[in-house]
Formats: sequence, C-alpha cells, structure tokens
Amino acid sequence: MNESERARRIVAKFGGSSVADAASIKRVAARIVAAKQAGNEVVVVISAMGDTTDELMDLALQVSPQPQPRELDMLLTTGERQSAALLAMAMNDLGVEALSYTGSQAGVITTAQHGNARIIDITPGRIEKSLEEGYVVIVAGFQGVSQTTKDITTLGRGASDTTAVALAAALGADVCEIYTDVDGVYTADPRIVKGARQVPRISYDEMLELAACGAKILHLRCVEYARREGVTVHVRSSFSNKPGTLVTGLVDMQKGNAMEEAIISGIAHDRGEAKVTVAGVPDQVGVAAMIFEVIAECDVNIDMIVQNVSEVATGATDITFTVPMSDGKKAVDALNAAKDRIGFTELRYDDQIGKVSVVGVGMRTHPGVTAKFFGALAAANINIQMISTSEIRISVVVGADDVDAAVRAAHTAFGLDSVSGEAVVYAGTGR
Ligand code: ASP
Ligand code: MG
Repeated sequence: MNESERARRIVAKFGGSSVADAASIKRVAARIVAAKQAGNEVVVVISAMGDTTDELMDLALQVSPQPQPRELDMLLTTGERQSAALLAMAMNDLGVEALSYTGSQAGVITTAQHGNARIIDITPGRIEKSLEEGYVVIVAGFQGVSQTTKDITTLGRGASDTTAVALAAALGADVCEIYTDVDGVYTADPRIVKGARQVPRISYDEMLELAACGAKILHLRCVEYARREGVTVHVRSSFSNKPGTLVTGLVDMQKGNAMEEAIISGIAHDRGEAKVTVAGVPDQVGVAAMIFEVIAECDVNIDMIVQNVSEVATGATDITFTVPMSDGKKAVDALNAAKDRIGFTELRYDDQIGKVSVVGVGMRTHPGVTAKFFGALAAANINIQMISTSEIRISVVVGADDVDAAVRAAHTAFGLDSVSGEAVVYAGTGR
C-alpha cells in the first residue's frame, strides 16, 4: 500500500506471523491506517495470531481424541476473531474507525463440511455499507457460515488467503494484497534454499501447480478462485516495503516480464503425504476401479498413482498411490475392510516420504527438463520412489530425509540460485 497511489478499493490479508503479538498488531494497524489515509477503501482479512490455530487444535486433542467437527470449528474460528478485534482496537486508537466482522457477519456463505468448507456465495452488504460510512472493515479469515445448517465452518488450513480473494472478487476490489513473512513468491522455500530468488510476476497456472505441490505461500483454493474471477493477487511482506510478486494472467513474454525466460519458475515440496502400496493385486479388468472406489467412498483425495507391470508368474501387480497423511489411516482401514473383495495380498503404508516438484511453463517447449532433474537427484545420491508429470510439472516422491537435499539440488541444477544474496525470512515458525 503506497501513499501516492490513487484511491482504490483494496483487500489486504495479513497472515498469522504478521500479527503474532501486540507490537506486530500495532505495526500492521499503522500500515493500514496509512493506506486508508491515502484515500483508499480498505478491507482487511486477518489470520489468527502466530501459531494460535495449531495451539487451539492441540488443546482440543487434549480434551478429546476425536473432537466433533462442529465444535472444532467453533473453537478454531475464535483465533481469527481475536486478531480481528485486536486490530480494530489498535486502529481506532490511531484515529481511524474500524469495524471487525466474523466471516458469518461479513457474508461468507459456505457448504456445510466442517474443517474444509467451500465458499459458495458472498453477500457483502454489511461490508459495503461500512465502507460507504468510511470505516475500515476487518474480516476474520478462514471461516464462514453454512447455508444449510447455519453452523460456523472453517475453510481449511491456510484458507484466510481464500477469504481475501473471494472478498476481493465480490467487492470488485482493484487488488488483493496478501501480506506475509517473506518478500513474495520465491523459486523455492527460502527456509530451505538460502539462495532462493524472489519472482516479480508469476502466472496463475504456475502458481496453481506450485500451491498444489505444497508451496505454502498461497492457499491452493485462493489461486483457483483468483484465476477464475480474474483477481490480481499481490504477495508481499508486511515487514518491508519491497515490491513483492504479482500473480496474474499470462505473463507477457514480449514485455520482458517472463522472469528472464526461465524454463523453470520454481521448486515446491510437500511433506504432508503418505504412500500406500496395495501389493499382489490381480491384474484384471476392474480391479483398479474397485480400489479407487473404496478410497473415493471415504472421501480421500489421491495424488500420484503408479501401477507396476504384472509378474508373469503370478499375474499380480502392485498399485502404489499417495494420499494426504492426515487421511492415511482412513484409506488403509477402508482398503483392509475390502481386502477379500479386491483380492490383494498385502497393504503397505509409508509416511516417511516427501514430494519434490519442478514447475514451469517453459518445460512445454524445452526438452531435457526431466533428464536434468533426475540427473541432479542422482548426483545428490537421492533415490526416486515415484514419478508423476503434468504439462508444466514434474514431481517425484523421495524419502523424507532427502527432501531438503532434493529441493536444493533441483534449484541449483535449473540455475535458480541467486547471485545477489540470501532470501530473508522475517518471522514465523513455518509450522
Ligand atoms: N489460521 C488459519 C490456519 O492457520 C488460517 C490461516 O492462517 O490462513 O490455518
Ligand atoms: Mg498462509
């Protein structure tokens, strides 16, 4: 938010590490006040302070091993209410009138699925009215209210970003600014690669792949939403005045904005998946369908899948796939229950893995990217367990202990290492 900018409607989201304590809340308040005083209309979306959400979750698990999803959402949404109210207090003391709203009050209408609800409508009447009356509006992120049950819902971990983009779309904002603890989108997690480079612009497609592959800088659904609604997302640090990263439509190659024509725009990693191997599966029509129907029925998302060639002697094969670690038990239990019907001999589960992905639109037109990636892993003595690709991505599964080394090896191999110094991580535990 720059004081010389013309009056605009801005949605600005501040992440948990930007409001970790009283002093940071006051700092953020001053920043918002400056934007307001420059004549902008400002809607702020706020996350819970620091690691509050994790702490509330830990607390719930101490009280109950399997908390009811409805009550868990009631509990977790208090984190964002705290920071929203505190921020409003700090702003009012700086002489700018601010009103805090829960997601429900702000008109964030969702599906009924606790813990992972989707936004289906935004009715921003109250926000519009408050803006007209000259208030800065502060909305508790990550939450809404179910259209059908009228219960309070949460939108999934990290989903304050999605609240912000959805509000930006509904309010016709000029920009959705996402303030975080690093200077923008980097070529790799700067917590792992010290020489990661910040990219000035990135396309929705590349950002989608990076977010889907574990880059935590933006919530996946926030990028999907932004692409669908054409919302320009501006990722920047709340700790500096650096220009940050614009996430937009096609990055224009002609104007020299194409990130120095890099073939690869970034390396993402994900430690949140587990690998399930169904061994000794009869190699017959319909068996794979049966396995994945079982998984689908328990509402578990599959990521990578590998099926081996069947053994000549036995006519049986192995099918290996990855699922979110948090759903691993559910998937294994469901498959074991269907063991006789499917006819497999053994089920193996391994959560000591990680996924490393190389993403870039340039790989569509440049051969040899796979060879270079795998060569770099080999040189680092890293074994590849699974592989999957899309048009603009190559992902591998490696052992959990090899993830950092694999990210660094790929980053160096694709010439992404910065020559001009180290990336700055201003705050946050990366939890
Ligand atoms: N506080 C929530 C979380 O930690 C939402 C967010 O930060 O975006 O997942
Ligand atoms: Mg986040």
